[in-house]
Amino acid sequence: TRKESSAASDVYKRQERTLSIIKPDGVSRGLIGDVIKHIEGRGLKIVAMKMLHLTQAQARGFYAVHRERPFFEGLTTFMSSGPAVVMVLEGDNAIARWRELMGATDYRKAAEGTIRREFATDIEKNVVHGSDAPETAAFEIGYFFNRFEILA
Ligand code: ATP
Ligand code: MG
Repeated sequence: TRKESSAASDVYKRQERTLSIIKPDGVSRGLIGDVIKHIEGRGLKIVAMKMLHLTQAQARGFYAVHRERPFFEGLTTFMSSGPAVVMVLEGDNAIARWRELMGATDYRKAAEGTIRREFATDIEKNVVHGSDAPETAAFEIGYFFNRFEILA
């Protein structure tokens, strides 16, 4: 029956994954612990994590979708200005849940209780990144992690 087949597909439905970054402003200001507290406190599971200092070329590759934007040069300079923490988060609806927890790009428009509302200082220096769709999540996770680095 339909009911049985949808129950069966639920069993096999893989948890969604998203890429999260604690940007160089978050790392330099000592906010790694605060951001991770928000992530774990909301029940998102960290299944991969590393710290790295991107070159500007690596930041350009990561944010290639924004290459025509006026803020591209500033954004990639900022993203390569110091160490960042990259993580893969897993959970039901992880992409949307992580973006909700981050808050709006412009922290002045971010909802109360979000990470950007609490910690961001600038539209660019907004502490965290999150993938915005399944296709971008797949690209972004693959940009930083191979299959052996992501825990099942
Ligand atoms: P992210 O992709 O980092 O999770 P987002 O999806 O909320 O953020 P995007 O529109 O994808 O926002 O912009 C990527 C990043 O570029 C922003 O997080 C911010 O750091 C920077 N940015 C966006 N808009 C501006 C702007 N108008 N001026 C300066 N920097 C900006
Ligand atoms: Mg984005």
